[in-house]
Amino acid sequence: MGDIQELKDKVEKFCTDRDWDQFHSPKDLAIGVITESSELLQHFRFKNDAEMKQILKDKRAEIGEELADIMFFILRFAQMYDFDLKSEIEKKIAKNEQRLPIDKSKGKNRKYDED
Ligand SMILES: [Mg+2]
Repeated sequence: MGDIQELKDKVEKFCTDRDWDQFHSPKDLAIGVITESSELLQHFRFKNDAEMKQILKDKRAEIGEELADIMFFILRFAQMYDFDLKSEIEKKIAKNEQRLPIDKSKGKNRKYDED
């Protein structure tokens, strides 16, 4: 995942070349994550399973762009405020492995202690 640093560097260059540090408070970057997530969600609004499957084929490029937009803001947040995304995701997965043991959560979409 040395790729993450490479992507953070690209995002940083893109933004600093444009003098955008001034606009990228933690709040505004978090708004960016949500706004772009909403744009992703909009593709699937009111669609049933079959329609969503078709949209994934027909609108693949647009959906990929929204994923990139979301990732851009996550990378920019991590870059500006010094979060190690590789370490954060590894810690979170380890935490969830403890919280959601396989024998109690396999095939279930609810937390085992909510049943
Ligand atoms: Mg977008």
